[in-house]
Amino acid sequence: MAGMPQSVLLSWESKATGARRERERNAEVEVEVLTIDCARCGAGDGDQCMAKSGWAAERPHAARLREAQARVDARLGCLGSNPVAVPDA
Ligand SMILES: [Zn+2]
Repeated sequence: MAGMPQSVLLSWESKATGARRERERNAEVEVEVLTIDCARCGAGDGDQCMAKSGWAAERPHAARLREAQARVDARLGCLGSNPVAVPDA
């Protein structure tokens, strides 16, 4: 394994583990996203984002979703589906 960056070695895991981690992360993000106020549409705590039509949007606005992902990643100590420690998390 000489010449391999340490981060690659640390991030190895089986596909099944990766899939489970991804599912857990997505489930947490889904909950977390509703606790954040959306700057785009003004959806508050517990509200889903609103589409222009006035109906609940299928997906949260991008900025709100990114914020939720960042919070979950910091809490889980991961970066996306990568089990790599986040500095200062
Ligand atoms: Zn929104």
